[in-house]
Amino acid sequence: MHDHEKRTPMRGWNSKAWEWRNVTENVACRPQHMYSPKSKLELIGAVKFAHEHNLPVRVAALGHSTSSLVPTTGVLIMTDNLQQIKVNEKKQTVWFESGVSIMQLEAELRKVGLCVPHSVLSREFFWVGCQSTNSHGSGIKYGGMNHFLIHADILDSEGIMRRYVKAGHKIEDEDTAAKNEAEGRPDIFHAVMSPLGMMGVIYAVTLQAEPIYKVKVTDIEIPFALDQGIPDDLRKLVYEKEAVEFNWFLGDKLWIHYTEPTKEELTMCACVSCCGCACASAFCGCCASDTKQGCLAVKDSWERLNEAFKTGAGQILLLPMLQHPHTTPLFTKFASASISAGTPSSPFQQVRWVPDAVHIMHLFYGTDIGVEFLEFGFQCDDDWNNVHQAWKVAVNKLREYNAKGKYPINALIQSRFTGRNDALLSPHNLKQEVEYATAYQKTPAKPTVICWIELVTFCKEGGASKDYEDYSKEVGQAWMKLSGHPHPHWAKRFKYIPGIIDHIHRVFRETNNGIERFLAIRDELNVDPHNRFVNPYLDDLFFAPRRSRHASVTEVEIKTTGPSTAS
Ligand SMILES: Cc1cc2nc3c(=O)[nH]c(=O)nc-3n(C[C@H](O)[C@H](O)[C@H](O)COP(=O)(O)OP(=O)(O)OC[C@H]3O[C@@H](n4cnc5c(N)ncnc54)[C@H](O)[C@@H]3O)c2cc1C
Repeated sequence: MHDHEKRTPMRGWNSKAWEWRNVTENVACRPQHMYSPKSKLELIGAVKFAHEHNLPVRVAALGHSTSSLVPTTGVLIMTDNLQQIKVNEKKQTVWFESGVSIMQLEAELRKVGLCVPHSVLSREFFWVGCQSTNSHGSGIKYGGMNHFLIHADILDSEGIMRRYVKAGHKIEDEDTAAKNEAEGRPDIFHAVMSPLGMMGVIYAVTLQAEPIYKVKVTDIEIPFALDQGIPDDLRKLVYEKEAVEFNWFLGDKLWIHYTEPTKEELTMCACVSCCGCACASAFCGCCASDTKQGCLAVKDSWERLNEAFKTGAGQILLLPMLQHPHTTPLFTKFASASISAGTPSSPFQQVRWVPDAVHIMHLFYGTDIGVEFLEFGFQCDDDWNNVHQAWKVAVNKLREYNAKGKYPINALIQSRFTGRNDALLSPHNLKQEVEYATAYQKTPAKPTVICWIELVTFCKEGGASKDYEDYSKEVGQAWMKLSGHPHPHWAKRFKYIPGIIDHIHRVFRETNNGIERFLAIRDELNVDPHNRFVNPYLDDLFFAPRRSRHASVTEVEIKTTGPSTAS
């Protein structure tokens, strides 16, 4: 198990420095061993090696998380060579190894008319990396990507494969005899839905796919005023349409994007590699080879150019702007103007296959420039007052910084909306003490809606500026005070916000007590008795508060049971 010298370098891997870095390059580590297994056996070997040498283990997918989830000093496993995919057309399921990207998954599913209709905006990411961090797209029908998970094979810290299958599903493969650890225990399955690598090394997963369908995509531009309140018609859109996004590119317009199922003819090319490729250009050439799906290249070209223009034109100024932050207003003005110029009419409508309907999916392609973001999710109040407050504080603070000649963010502020989520490490598995009854399914008239709001900035290698740090810290502290159990996105850096760890624990205690239940399940299953899957960051986040709580409880016990000083 010493093939790490021979491994193909991938993004994030600097073979000279023997160092792994995430894509934004704000997180790095120098593990003693790095492995890129090419098979299940090699993966098991890597975990057993760590076990035998008593070393910590972490896994890197594509390295897009900006929080320190991946670093380890022991064994770092890269899954980029684990790429098998098997689609079961009859059952509409897809089994795949953990190094498969969303784009690869979509391509295989599309061949047989299937899809997974909810995803993050970047197709390069590994599906398992996204699932592990509770990542999400937009649309209140689903609570996140992990909604589609029905099975996971995960190696425990001794390198033993554990199988977890969702209730009501059966996995038929060469390991049919494997025991389902989640049999009769939905809570165990909920623990593996978004485990941040703490339940072990995921070898493979199975998703329940759906027949692919077309959606009408509508883009509207309206004058930006979300800091003044959320207009009723926008709020209604979120409940009535399939997926809705509010994007503010820091100019005077708000870009609203929404989709709804349709039977109309496609206006975009149906070829997955074209719709997901990195070039985002009008004539990428791959349409020509896609005879099976029927090429719509000519019809498509204007729309593709339009999309590239909308999201790409502003990037021309990106590098100079990062060198000279005082040019940020020029950049954001240009970016906003290019968005307007690229949209010939408002509303602008297209018909696409649902996986191609993610809004700004080309925005981050091809730049290889770091991105920093702060994202919180919270349950919308009945009157959406907390959504208004979240926008108001982000916009007003930004204006205060701008007035002082400071430009803490240069890309956008965005809101997306999802439903609730069953994962134990999601606080939006709300108050489900008993049976995880889904409020959404039982009372569809009033679904639980989670608003995800994020500040996004492009940045130089090594992370964003001090101004970003100060601004996002202030906004984060204000977002922590919102109603609706606000909680930061696990993958997006937040630990620098004062009081955030206590806040997270409080939110979980007030909602589903998910952290304690997750940790108890780890203990019960004994998947990691020596905490080999827990790096110092995760220790600070999950274990240290527990230790100090236990310490203070013990202290109180000693004080209250000790000799009385009362006279
Ligand atoms: C440009 C950009 C756009 C983004 N868009 C969105 C978005 O639309 N919505 C959203 O919710 N988030 C978004 N994110 C955040 C992103 O979804 C997460 O950071 C996601 O985890 C990235 O996937 P990755 O493949 O890079 O995973 P990594 O960052 O490499 O890994 C993420 C976590 O998964 C664990 N992991 C990975 N593979 C395994 C395995 N086999 N076994 C056990 N643990 C494993 C890692 O240890 C780590 O804890 C975005 C990030 C960027 C940079």
